[in-house]
Amino acid sequence: MTDTHAHINAPAFAADLPQVVARATAAGLTAIIVVGVDVPSSQAAVAVAAQYPNCWATVGIHPHEANSCTPETLRQLEALARAPKVVAIGETGLDYYRNYAAKPAQQEAFAAQLDLAARLRLPAVVHMREAYADVYAALGADRRLPPVVMHCFSGDTTQARDFIALGCMISLAGTVTYRSARKLHDVAKMVPSERLLLETDCPYLAPAPRRGKRNEPAYVRHTLEFIARKRGVSPAHLEEITDANAQTTFGIASPDADG
Ligand SMILES: [Zn+2]
Ligand SMILES: [Zn+2]
Repeated sequence: MTDTHAHINAPAFAADLPQVVARATAAGLTAIIVVGVDVPSSQAAVAVAAQYPNCWATVGIHPHEANSCTPETLRQLEALARAPKVVAIGETGLDYYRNYAAKPAQQEAFAAQLDLAARLRLPAVVHMREAYADVYAALGADRRLPPVVMHCFSGDTTQARDFIALGCMISLAGTVTYRSARKLHDVAKMVPSERLLLETDCPYLAPAPRRGKRNEPAYVRHTLEFIARKRGVSPAHLEEITDANAQTTFGIASPDADG
């Protein structure tokens, strides 16, 4: 099983990270992608990946942190991106729901990181909230882009279809398990097998049976089982497909690919 988006480098896990990774490993997770949201957390992601065989890292500046995206931080990101086990740029993107940074700053940081991903031939991990038109325009305009992961996808089937047509992967988080998330239930059914990824986005958004608790990579199992039910396939089958998709997208080899 794979968690393609985990913030286990965040302060929420400072006290018990070894136990969290041990629980994930015991639950069958052969890969966890640890995601940076600014330079310090990207450094921490690289450090976690160096420490645990089943962890990999991304380096990026979250749209909430876009004000900190200067030419100097971009140089630091580029240097970090060359560290071992760094498999993507991000998370980057646009968040017009919270708007913690002004739109122009977000757009500039997003464009700069898409450019970095294209130059380094790394996938981009994209955060999109209430920003469909601008994210779609930015991704559609760039012909050089390596695979793009629409992380914690929160759009509807029409938007999902548009991103799939651009060649993007659709990554679903625990939000899909919430009873009120009708749009996401439809998305979970329509994404082609070869485009689907699973994630926790922990410590946020714990899936239904754990909702309200601190989320962690082991809980990706609940999201896997929910989506398998919606698609009418076995969890084992969906696990095989989404593991293979993660390995292809991020270029990672599972330490125990047949397990
Ligand atoms: Zn995000
Ligand atoms: Zn995230």
